[in-house]
Amino acid sequence: MMAANPKEGQSPQPVNHGIITNPMRVVDALDRPLAALRLSVTDRCNLRCHYCMPEAEYVWLPRQSILTFEETSRLVDVFTDLGVDKIRLTGGEPLLRQDLQALVELLASKAALRDLALTTNGILLSNHARALRAAGLHRITISLDTLKPERFVKLTRFDSHRAVLTGIDAAIEAGFDSVKVDTVVMRDVNADELPSLIDYSRRQRIEVRFIEYMDVGGATQWSADAVVSRQEMLSILSERYGPITPVNEQTSAPADRFTLSDGTTFGIISSTTEPFCRSCDRSRLTADGLWYLCLYAQTGLDLRKPLREGASIENLRDQIVSAWQARADRGAEARLAANQRAPLIPVRRLREEPHLEMHTRGG
Ligand code: SAM
Ligand code: SF4
Ligand code: SF4
Repeated sequence: MMAANPKEGQSPQPVNHGIITNPMRVVDALDRPLAALRLSVTDRCNLRCHYCMPEAEYVWLPRQSILTFEETSRLVDVFTDLGVDKIRLTGGEPLLRQDLQALVELLASKAALRDLALTTNGILLSNHARALRAAGLHRITISLDTLKPERFVKLTRFDSHRAVLTGIDAAIEAGFDSVKVDTVVMRDVNADELPSLIDYSRRQRIEVRFIEYMDVGGATQWSADAVVSRQEMLSILSERYGPITPVNEQTSAPADRFTLSDGTTFGIISSTTEPFCRSCDRSRLTADGLWYLCLYAQTGLDLRKPLREGASIENLRDQIVSAWQARADRGAEARLAANQRAPLIPVRRLREEPHLEMHTRGG
């Protein structure tokens, strides 16, 4: 369904004839716009986080299948023509991609993009923060699950905690529009650090967001017992800090934000126990050009093949529009409705189809 540009004060009305009346807004079967794209630039990573890559061996995407920056840029042009105005670069670890700032520069020059962000584990950030900012990156999110170096090693299998903290400092110094820290909260792993992470974010004058442990592809050690729910997080935090007030804002961002009585804000992303699929405007493009309409989707649309075979912009656009119009995915809500929750995809299947991995589709 395409919606005409609404007059001021009117909500957009979807129409059903399938003709593009205004290429700036494409909506899916549940009237959700195509607006945010998570762009994975590599499937490689320099950590092995327990909740994402706990296995000993991985099957990697073939190098020749990885999109060049020019190819990525051409696809982004098609997406922005259809209303995408927010891009988040991700991976794997995006800073492992050679010369990432050149891609940032290319994307930042696109007038249609009003938000260009990056999610990183921060290890290589101290060397790149300034250049990324100078290249035009607006916002940055760094994953930080613990403030304890020994715990970091246990969680990630690498002794890189100091590098991550230095990376966060460098990001703050580089002057991004926003610097955030994301923490996946797991029972008996790091749930005891919620207050210390709040205190750290307050000291650094940045915002921390607590993410519920998700049963996505790649999380092969997931169990319902290890999930700390949003409600539980709020009760841990209110015991420590007193009353917590929800921030009243209308946004399609995944985090709900809260304020402590001293004004400190933080976020919670409750994809597991209180999913927010109803307002989801996000899709994902893997580093080799497969487009996924939902984090939980088992199949994606191959955009690399037509792109490399010389498909016209119109052809690519038609494929994207048709796929988005048919989209009815509510993956996290479907998982919540499932009776017995267990890891989503068995290891054997992940080896056959690495696109199902969280580190391939970018989180
Ligand atoms: N390597 C970068 C990083 O870690 O920030 C970017 C890619 S990573 C796949 C993106 C996000 O997915 C990270 O914030 C990570 O914590 C989150 N993530 C991975 N597996 C998860 C899981 N099972 N549950 C919740 N979040 C997860
Ligand atoms: Fe950890 Fe991100 Fe690497 Fe996954 S992709 S193992 S979350 S650093
Ligand atoms: Fe969007 Fe799918 Fe995540 Fe729901 S599960 S919020 S539809 S990506």
